[in-house]
Amino acid sequence: MPKNFDAIVIGSGISGSWAAKEFAEKGLKTLLIERGRMVEHIKDYPTAFLDPWDIPYANQKTTKDTQNNPLISKHYQFDQSTKHFYIQDHDQEYIQEKPFDWIRGYQLGGKSLLWARQTQRWSDYEFNAPKRFNYGIDWPIRYKDIAPWYSHVEKFIGVSGNKDGIDNMPDSEVVGSFEMNLVESKISRSISANYTDRKPIIGRHANLAEVTPTQTQQGRSKCMARSLCSRGCPFGGYFSANSSTIPYALKTGNLTILTDSIVESIVYDHDRKKASGVRIINANTKEKTEITGSIIFLNASTLNSNLILMNSKCEHFPNGLGNKNDQLGKNIVFHNYRGRLTADFDGYEDSYYFGKRPTQIFIPAFKNIHHVTESFLGSYLIAFSAYRESFPNSQTNTTLGGKYKDSLLEPGKWKVSMMMQGEVIPVKENHVRLSNQKDKYGLPKLITSIGYTNNDVVMMQDFIDEGHEMLQKANCTNIISLDQHEAFNRQPGLEVHEMGGVRMGINPTESILNAYNQIHSCKNVFVTDGACMISAGNQNPSLTFMALTARAANYAIQQFKNGNL
Ligand SMILES: Cc1cc2nc3c(=O)[nH]c(=O)nc-3n(C[C@H](O)[C@H](O)[C@H](O)COP(=O)(O)OP(=O)(O)OC[C@H]3O[C@@H](n4cnc5c(N)ncnc54)[C@H](O)[C@@H]3O)c2cc1C
Repeated sequence: MPKNFDAIVIGSGISGSWAAKEFAEKGLKTLLIERGRMVEHIKDYPTAFLDPWDIPYANQKTTKDTQNNPLISKHYQFDQSTKHFYIQDHDQEYIQEKPFDWIRGYQLGGKSLLWARQTQRWSDYEFNAPKRFNYGIDWPIRYKDIAPWYSHVEKFIGVSGNKDGIDNMPDSEVVGSFEMNLVESKISRSISANYTDRKPIIGRHANLAEVTPTQTQQGRSKCMARSLCSRGCPFGGYFSANSSTIPYALKTGNLTILTDSIVESIVYDHDRKKASGVRIINANTKEKTEITGSIIFLNASTLNSNLILMNSKCEHFPNGLGNKNDQLGKNIVFHNYRGRLTADFDGYEDSYYFGKRPTQIFIPAFKNIHHVTESFLGSYLIAFSAYRESFPNSQTNTTLGGKYKDSLLEPGKWKVSMMMQGEVIPVKENHVRLSNQKDKYGLPKLITSIGYTNNDVVMMQDFIDEGHEMLQKANCTNIISLDQHEAFNRQPGLEVHEMGGVRMGINPTESILNAYNQIHSCKNVFVTDGACMISAGNQNPSLTFMALTARAANYAIQQFKNGNL
């Protein structure tokens, strides 16, 4: 393997694979470094075609799983069919100063194999929010700067949905759409009729409801509505790095992939006033090497990118690469998932739906958008779905035997589930830092000091009140509300939307990155995963990470070709 590259990308997940694709496509000799193992599309999806009865323990977590992995076993997708895509708790210890559930996927493709594929664009309501409501710092970009890059990404990954014309959730480049079922349509119509500020829409998802030649060229085909995405999809029916960006980049002949290689730090060359490359630990032998490169993209996912920068110390940057202002690691944000509602919907038991649609219904944010509420900062979106209960016949009171099997043939009542996704406001107290303790690779353990604030609690109550009223007006019954933090010990992190710590900004005294995700004080290092975020918005974040990455990569390519990097 060569020891010098035009571009080095650290981390092969959702954002890193996008950087690798852009660089390789534009002719740069690119190295993609991944700490985890190789996962090859189709070949390495061992459970993708297993039926429930073929999976050990009926696909349930065992006591041993829970004991060995108290953290990841809390995650809703962790089971026998997916657990090989989660990092085991013992494999990278960290110190929770405040409880924080850090969910990670260490393998080629990162968490792109596990994600729920919901993709909504940000609007200027989000880019303007810190300035409008006076929190954090102002974003150095606006919607117009990123809109073409959203289109660029969406056309490649394939997004399903409709053109909905909602100004705080701008339309995506959609191809085909899944449909609401009967009960979802009824609830949606009731909400639209009762509230002028709310418009339920079918979720925009990176699942292929229709296929364009761009995806056919990637070897992908239509989503089969199996809803088994998190096992890896042999059809390429949803976007993952493994099915899409990585094989595409490999075809150019410009991409080299190095797996089982942990980036310990980025090396700074004091004389040339820029980074010269990366220091790597072989995950199996623990041998250390250095590789040099002209451009370095850091995409190890939010908290690991913070860790790598903090661990990249030298005489010039004693507090971590680019950290001239003590901002590194601060203002970590996430999404508030605390509130949840469930309900029954009586009747319509002669109606069913086809397949297991991989999408939900969304109600785009309506609080602190057109009207300002005094009671909390930020906004939240709502997602809901209606479904037929799958274990209806409780009089059999068993999960075994003939009677149970017969009962499975009769779907039960209609049920409704509603959740919030709330913006968490940046505060400097929510931070990460390095401890003196080392993990088994000799890397300092990360300390997470991240928690809810009162704003999150007030926002949750608002969602519960509003959600309850909407369901009631839609004739739902037996409406139950839950604070999932209280009820299930749900902690920040479990939503897997952690962001911040290496924020962008106009002013180098209060931010680490400029408007192109370039470290103000080390121009050939770019951070384009969630670490760069100033605020959280209320939308699922990964589409924005991909668009920011593609934008920054193309800027870097231009600078590289002009001899500026
Ligand atoms: C179940 C689930 C559902 C989700 N649903 C959604 C959703 O619907 N919509 C949405 O927008 N987001 C969703 N997310 C979040 C989404 O997965 C993340 O936002 C996204 O993967 C982040 O991309 P990334 O490139 O920053 O990190 P990742 O995809 O995690 O990739 C980071 C990669 O870096 C590697 N790495 C880490 N440290 C090092 C190191 N030191 N050296 C080398 N390599 C390293 C990791 O092994 C990993 O492969 C979901 C996540 C999960 C788990």
